[in-house]
Amino acid sequence: MSLHAAERPTRILVDLDRIAGNLRAIRAHAGVPVMAVVKANAYGHGLVPVARHLQAQGVEHLGVAFPEEGIALRRAGITVPILVLGGIYGPQVAQYLAHDLEITVSSLEKLRQVEAAAEARGRRATVHLKVDTGMERIGVHAWTAGPFIEAAVASRWIELAGIYSHLACSDEPGSPMTARQLERFEEACAHFGRLGVPVPPRHIANSGGILHFPEARLDMVRPGILLYGVLPGAESQPTVAVQPALSLVSRVVYFKVVEAGHAVSYGGTWAPEADTRVVTVPIGYGDGYPRALSSRGTVLIRGREYPIVGRVCMDQFMVDIGHDSAWNEDEVVLVGRQGDVRLRAEDVAHAAGMIPYEVLVGLNDRIPRIYPGDGYLDAE
Ligand SMILES: *Cc1c(COP(=O)(O)O)cnc(C)c1O
Repeated sequence: MSLHAAERPTRILVDLDRIAGNLRAIRAHAGVPVMAVVKANAYGHGLVPVARHLQAQGVEHLGVAFPEEGIALRRAGITVPILVLGGIYGPQVAQYLAHDLEITVSSLEKLRQVEAAAEARGRRATVHLKVDTGMERIGVHAWTAGPFIEAAVASRWIELAGIYSHLACSDEPGSPMTARQLERFEEACAHFGRLGVPVPPRHIANSGGILHFPEARLDMVRPGILLYGVLPGAESQPTVAVQPALSLVSRVVYFKVVEAGHAVSYGGTWAPEADTRVVTVPIGYGDGYPRALSSRGTVLIRGREYPIVGRVCMDQFMVDIGHDSAWNEDEVVLVGRQGDVRLRAEDVAHAAGMIPYEVLVGLNDRIPRIYPGDGYLDAE
């Protein structure tokens, strides 16, 4: 990998072709259209570049959490349907309509708000109805969905593009919760039949649902983390062959010998028992690299795994390389592969006592994101 002199040696490398490959694998496995979830900066992979690549791959739908994310995509020229998954905040409804974003409607009151905004604009709003089947987050409870669905069907200002729910325990393959949620969802969808109108596209499966519950695929699936090649939970079964798309790399910027008993970093929480070699890596919690990795995480240098020692600082941390050698400017892999060794986001999360979602999403914009094809990457 070549280095640009003017750039920070710490960078996130995103392999967009792997995301495309994961999309293909998910689509082949599920056999239904895909709503690719790109909220939270595409799980740290970069909202606009990921969405552009997915659109070029013919993804059917995109999902974001907030209208601001959808607006950023529209401004970047993304034209595929975008559903905002989060609950609507009343004053923002006009923004959804102005930017052609699909709206999650999760109560009769919100339906009325959307209707009023659509009428004021003189154009129908495209809506997905949200049914709560066991998450207790947003959505009309399945057992009270009748009047809600009837009102949506009857409204001339509402165009129904979907009805959906969200799984609470899909990353636990053995949990009985998913079957219960599917049953409740079915119950809610049955109202369309009673009203004599076709059911709009139904969707409920997140990554865990796609991996573990084939009966949850319905008419569309909504993968987030799986699209980026990461498994949602510790018990997840890799039933879809996906590959991680993100690497986080830095470089050694300092080398020294620390003498026995001399503590390293803030608070002096760690000291070597014998003289040892310690290198400094220029990335810290100010980049979103978890401070919880203090004396717990590991990194790869010269194809070997070494422990982080002492507290992770805002901009740097230290690594004990024992009696091995490392040189200034040697590559340090924090997430990814080096030679035959791999450090997955799942491993980093486990060491930090976090979930992989937090690790990926936490990596912030102080770290430049590089995409192969930008001319920065020679090869992996
Ligand atoms: C975030 C989110 C998803 C994607 O979840 P993953 O577990 O990352 O697959 C799907 N649906 C909704 C409603 C979400 O909020």
